[in-house]
Amino acid sequence: MSSIIKSVKRWFASPATETSGAGANTQIISRDQHSISRKDISENALKVLYRLSNAGYESFLVGGGVRDILLGLHPKDFDIATNATPEQVKELFRNCRIVGRRFRLAHILFGRDVIEVATFRAHCDDNIQQAKEGMILRDNVYGDIEEDAIRRDFTINALYYNIKDFSVHDYCDGLSDLRKRQLRMIGDPETRYREDPVRMLRVVRLACKLDLSIEQKTLEPIAELSYLLEQVPAARLWEEYRKLFLAGAGKLTFQKLREYGLFHALFPATDRALKHQDTAQAQQTEQLVLDALENTDTRIATEQTVNPAFLMAVMLWQPLLESTEALQQKGNNFNDAFFKSMARVLNAQSQHISIPRRYALVIRDIWSMQLRLPAHHGKKAWSIFEHPRFRAAYDFLLLRSQSDPRQKELADWWTKFQDADANDRRQMLQQTATGKKRRRRKPRNPKRQQASKNRH
Ligand code: ATP
Ligand code: MG
Repeated sequence: MSSIIKSVKRWFASPATETSGAGANTQIISRDQHSISRKDISENALKVLYRLSNAGYESFLVGGGVRDILLGLHPKDFDIATNATPEQVKELFRNCRIVGRRFRLAHILFGRDVIEVATFRAHCDDNIQQAKEGMILRDNVYGDIEEDAIRRDFTINALYYNIKDFSVHDYCDGLSDLRKRQLRMIGDPETRYREDPVRMLRVVRLACKLDLSIEQKTLEPIAELSYLLEQVPAARLWEEYRKLFLAGAGKLTFQKLREYGLFHALFPATDRALKHQDTAQAQQTEQLVLDALENTDTRIATEQTVNPAFLMAVMLWQPLLESTEALQQKGNNFNDAFFKSMARVLNAQSQHISIPRRYALVIRDIWSMQLRLPAHHGKKAWSIFEHPRFRAAYDFLLLRSQSDPRQKELADWWTKFQDADANDRRQMLQQTATGKKRRRRKPRNPKRQQASKNRH
């Protein structure tokens, strides 16, 4: 922590040097005036930066990498900007793949580590292809670094670290906003949200993740424009969903998305359940989601894995139960209603955030296991326990029991079963079996019992 404070202090104290040649607002901060050191940059990112530079191209670290280092944090990935076209980048790297339709980018692959290289792009009204609402559909017009800076979203994301002389280029007053710890949209916020509505989600995500305030003008148009998110392809929103909720500040992000009126556009059915007229019911739903997000944040903080399917299963649990109840009222039995509802709820959600098939299967498993977990006797208990999705299903049950006391006894049984040794497990299963038999002995239908006695 102290090293973070030191690095931020050192950088806060440094006066910026204005240079001629660049635009009026441009500041170029020399190496001795800022806190970015090559030690903060990953080996792979440095390799790419140097190879581009040695081949005669301009080569800058940009975006979250620069921003996070200046904030004294460890960037999660490194983005590079250059004047080389994606094809020229590909010529330099054997491990390069060109991706993207809306933006053509070069990905340099080092095992699982991907370094993204973007060509400087101009924000040129005549050349970008826009939809009716002003949304940019294609945007592949190359430009120079200053043009590239102003088409980025927030001022603090438009800082460039030059590998040639280790200076930082600031074209949009990003350093001043970083000092204020505020997110400010470059240009007119409403226009920029219309061009790309995902920027509304990015404001909330970055503010929560980095503990930044949101400049008033940047915040203002969001409530009015949240409906624009409906036009964003559902596949892109799956990626955003992961970044929003699985990056360490999911709980706060959820609360802020609701506060700014954006949650509804992502999870309409969950949002309805959270506003259910039965307030106790609504509170229970909220508690379940908050508990899940808190667990997720803790898991990320302690470097445990998180599965996007688990959280999706939580978000859609109450809509699933409500749909099941509605189908039961139409005469379906519980099981049929439950399984039909799984498909319905997943389909409806996929209109907004498309859930890749392999994750949809996990969600279905977690849900259907909730019906099997109560039948914990004999062979059935073992087959549940050995199911590949047992752990996730058990965690889900545990979570449910936190907001729904009726599930506590069952959750406790499974906790005890997992902790028990072989002997104790056998005993537990015997107990459940005797309990079951004893329950069975109770006359369920006195008339039928009488009839059966008469037969003997
Ligand atoms: P993170 O730490 O989550 O990676 P990031 O700001 O680096 O945050 P990326 O999605 O990696 O986010 O994007 C890299 C950079 O590309 C951003 O910093 C920003 O300059 C630019 N950018 C990304 N998305 C947009 C967008 N929708 N509109 C304009 N610029 C964007
Ligand atoms: Mg990034």
